[in-house]
Amino acid sequence: MLLTITTTHRPATDLGYLLHKHPARVQTFELTFGAAHVCYPEATAERCTAALLLDVDPVALVRGRQRRGGGGLLGQYVNDRPYVASSFLSVAIAQVFGSALGGRSAQRPELAGRELPLTATVAALPCRRGEEMVHRLFEPLGYQVALEHPEAERAEGDPERGPYRNLRLAGAKRLAELLTHLYVLIPVLDEGKHYWVGSDEVDKLLRRGAGWLAGHPQRELIAQRYLRRQRTLAHEALQRLSEGDEEGGEMDAPEAGGAPGADGAPATRRAPARDEPPERFGRLHELRIEAVAQILERSGAVRVLDLGCGEGRLLLRLLRNSRFRVITGVDVSVRALEIAAQRLERTSLPEAARQCVTLLHGALTYRDKRLAGYDAAAVVEVIEHLDAARLATFERVLFGAARPATVVITTPNREYNANFPNLAAGTLRHPDHCFEWTRAEFAHWAEHVAAAHGYRVAIESVGAVDPERGAPTQMGIFTAAA
Ligand code: SAH
Repeated sequence: MLLTITTTHRPATDLGYLLHKHPARVQTFELTFGAAHVCYPEATAERCTAALLLDVDPVALVRGRQRRGGGGLLGQYVNDRPYVASSFLSVAIAQVFGSALGGRSAQRPELAGRELPLTATVAALPCRRGEEMVHRLFEPLGYQVALEHPEAERAEGDPERGPYRNLRLAGAKRLAELLTHLYVLIPVLDEGKHYWVGSDEVDKLLRRGAGWLAGHPQRELIAQRYLRRQRTLAHEALQRLSEGDEEGGEMDAPEAGGAPGADGAPATRRAPARDEPPERFGRLHELRIEAVAQILERSGAVRVLDLGCGEGRLLLRLLRNSRFRVITGVDVSVRALEIAAQRLERTSLPEAARQCVTLLHGALTYRDKRLAGYDAAAVVEVIEHLDAARLATFERVLFGAARPATVVITTPNREYNANFPNLAAGTLRHPDHCFEWTRAEFAHWAEHVAAAHGYRVAIESVGAVDPERGAPTQMGIFTAAA
């Protein structure tokens, strides 16, 4: 197993300080499964490369395995272990480059916090699921990815050509980031496992994934495979990631937390309103779902997205119309998606109809390729859950990147709140709302977004109209201009 890390930062030999390994020495570390050697094939001021060579001892592996009472799959287990990049390499990274992995450098602390031009190579990375997966894992993190067949099996048509590739990653990264990405993603690519995956692995994954995993478009796949497909563990990890997201801990919204909400109020959590208006899940909600469904029907859409689908009320309504062939619900809350899935399960509709629906776990505040290629999107009572920074990101994700021809957005009309007897003056309808807009504020936002992204917008209302305060719900219908 071989990992190399190269930098062209000047002086490049500072890499020695960052890795806490002197470029002029060859060092060996004894690990439980073999030995790790660190040396520098090149070390000049212009370019410096550190190599971590892992010499896995198959006999030690077998012994360790027997002690733990395993063994049924031994043959398979020892076969490729010594050569192939696997979780052993992650363990070696943590043990041999522990300070660098944690972003610590006694002699170059400032450099440890800086992005440097870095290249890493990993020999014999398992790619059983195809090269595509390697690209999908590393590219969203900002790396250039190159893969080639190992030297020994270059020849086209060689029957021995295996599922391994030599990987080369290049990017401007902090060294700790690069090591962390490798630490988590190498075991994700490797199907074998060498140590028991228990629930402390969830903590490890969340700790190592802090700052990047929650926003990674492949986070489900990463959690599932890192946690060896143990569904409950993967589920726990995703749940905690999404909770982190709701707490505003993710990385795409640097101002989150302290940023003012779109209504000018601080975007901190509000104390729960004691009595919610009965309309929230009652008749008004039905009217909203019906109004949105009819607009989607009239738009001629066949492939539709329900963004922030919650417990799936709109999805169930859309399913009743066979014109919608592909119906995709997206939500950040795993719990809401589970309820939606149960509801879909219970419908009396034939299996073929239910097959039209896909539920995706995802945040609308990250660019997500899965949202491309739809005719229409509904966003029902969701935008008011986003603070100013996330709302801006959401606009780019939906109107800038996904770009369905039709978008229907509903949101409360704050002016109408005075008509809810249980709602204290000045309180919002739900504790999780970051804002509720007046009709003028919504119209202003909608027109601005439409103009910025080449859409036309029409505004309608849903629910009984108060002559002065308008209707309880306002709805923007956006149509792509060309
Ligand atoms: N559209 C549904 C649910 C509305 S409640 C309905 O009308 O019944 C708001 C939903 O938005 C919740 O399910 C919440 O989990 C989801 N949500 C909030 N912020 C989100 C985000 N950033 N990404 C995806 N979903 C989000």
